[in-house]
Amino acid sequence: MEQRFLPLQINLTFRNENACSGKNGGIRSWHHYDIVGRRITNTMSISIKKLNLFVSFAILFLLLVGGSGHADYSFSNDADAVENAANSVFMLEVYDSRNRKIAVGSGFVIFEPDILATNYHVISDGAYVVAISDESVPYQLQQLCIADKAQDIALLRFDVDHGFEPLIPDTTGKLKRSSPVVAIGSPAGLKNTVSIGNISAFFDQNGKNWIQFTAPISSGSSGGVLLNDQGHVIGITTATYASTQNVNLAVRVEKLMELYRKWDGKTTRPMGRVTGKTNTSMPSYSTGQIAEGKVWISGSGKKYHNNPECSKMRSPREIDLLEAIQMGYEPCGKCYK
Ligand SMILES: [Zn+2]
Repeated sequence: MEQRFLPLQINLTFRNENACSGKNGGIRSWHHYDIVGRRITNTMSISIKKLNLFVSFAILFLLLVGGSGHADYSFSNDADAVENAANSVFMLEVYDSRNRKIAVGSGFVIFEPDILATNYHVISDGAYVVAISDESVPYQLQQLCIADKAQDIALLRFDVDHGFEPLIPDTTGKLKRSSPVVAIGSPAGLKNTVSIGNISAFFDQNGKNWIQFTAPISSGSSGGVLLNDQGHVIGITTATYASTQNVNLAVRVEKLMELYRKWDGKTTRPMGRVTGKTNTSMPSYSTGQIAEGKVWISGSGKKYHNNPECSKMRSPREIDLLEAIQMGYEPCGKCYK
């Protein structure tokens, strides 16, 4: 019977029994190895110990060589670093002054531990925002630091400083097409979804300097963060062309830095439209109201919504978000920003 498909096993043969200890060092004393399907001999257990030692040396060597330069660092390949960055990104639920949830979007901490960046269009009709952390803890924001409607960007302040770690803006401005990027946001209300892609192009339109990129985003991703392969913020994920494949757009972080420099660092005002007389009482919400993973659908139409009052739904019913996705429903672009 032919033995071509035998699993390969590595059989190390050491001529020097002290190969891996003592002055001679292990690696130089390593003479040859076979990678044929030989029977395991009595010396195999000793060989495996030496193999382990050799592997340890090899890993140490690679670490020393690999760690010597930052040029090889790749944030998009560093899952722990991406996880850490996600702690500074939030799913935003936007409420009006009557405590109705009107939109879902994304935002991230930048510049200071209590400053949150997002798109202006995400919060423009809201009275306050509940930012839901990666670990599903809700935090309230009612104060607007500064906004730029034309650039579609805004900076909000958390009601209480929780000491979140601000993401670092890229200040080099050196962006190249094909460079890897990581997007973190809440497409379709799926909190802190990570996607990886690359920069496709740059172009200017209506005074906006867009970064076009491929990392998938969707309704709900507005205000999310776009990071380069060093893990630094290069943009705010803002828009996507609905009728195309992966033509996604981010506002460049330079615009956010300009906005931050314009702000005096202390003055804030209540965000959005507060109807009626000035109401000094705190807007209220309870964590129980945040039915995570629940959406509203109606018999007609193929969109799901984050509240039953959106788009004049007929006999709306509440179902699991994942169920709605499985059934082929898509996020409503009005209540998912
Ligand atoms: Zn809707």
